[in-house]
Amino acid sequence: MADRPRFGPAGVPPLFRILGAKLPDVPRLLREEGLDAFEYQAVRWGQKPQMRQEEAEKLGSEARKNDVLLSLHGTYYVNLCGKKEVVEASKRRLIACATAAQWMGAYVVVFHPGFYGRVEKSEAFGNCVKALKEVRSEMDSLGIGKVKLGPETMGRVFQVGTLDEIMTVCETVEQTQLVIDWSHLHARHLGRFRKADDFRVVVEEVERRLGTEVVRNMHCHFSKIEYTDKGERRHHILDEARYGPDFQMLAEVITDFDLRPVMICETPLLDIDAVKMRDMLGRVVKERQNGLTG
Ligand SMILES: [Zn+2]
Repeated sequence: MADRPRFGPAGVPPLFRILGAKLPDVPRLLREEGLDAFEYQAVRWGQKPQMRQEEAEKLGSEARKNDVLLSLHGTYYVNLCGKKEVVEASKRRLIACATAAQWMGAYVVVFHPGFYGRVEKSEAFGNCVKALKEVRSEMDSLGIGKVKLGPETMGRVFQVGTLDEIMTVCETVEQTQLVIDWSHLHARHLGRFRKADDFRVVVEEVERRLGTEVVRNMHCHFSKIEYTDKGERRHHILDEARYGPDFQMLAEVITDFDLRPVMICETPLLDIDAVKMRDMLGRVVKERQNGLTG
């Protein structure tokens, strides 16, 4: 949960790797760029953490030293609505991710809930909520109760993860963190965000259902995005004018509602575009202040 809007990349920026940086160097390098969040990518993990506890703890202590808030993107190999074996394996994978999140002090495990498959959408969703409640209670009994579960809004029509579904999960499962991927919502609804008011509607809906605290503390993903009639196709950099959504509009809404999101940049430029978004928000804040005093 952020004390101010925070910005950072989804994963280690390519340039850091070229410079030969190791994982524990990442928080310091981000801080040097003026960034203050980092989403560790555990996206191809199986049923065991694929990093050593010592390495995770080192990352965590460097992050705290450099005031970088950590989150962890859980494995893609999760389907909480499938067959029993699939759901059980998915639960173990999520718990492996949560275990590593605890080691590094990441506040949330972000994840993609699953796929509707051949069953009725409402039934698939019900299975997903049931499985998540089981994951939650197992996490609590393993002593990793502090890590939040962060179901994400998804960009394809066959994936569980409409805004309504994600909010319902947050209403029914303990210790959840709302994760809004704005680009996914844009793609799923074929270009939903065309003006600032389109963002405002989402923020107001979240506030109405989940309250002011939740809306102020959203965990967000952002990228320009290309889509087809099935939804999300490819991520693009912020400067690609052909694609939406436009971060400037979201920055206005963040300012108007005094939100403090953790904004994770998922464009191919990661940290460079995260800096760009931070600066766009900074300019809007300044304009608003000048507007009030001038
Ligand atoms: Zn994701």
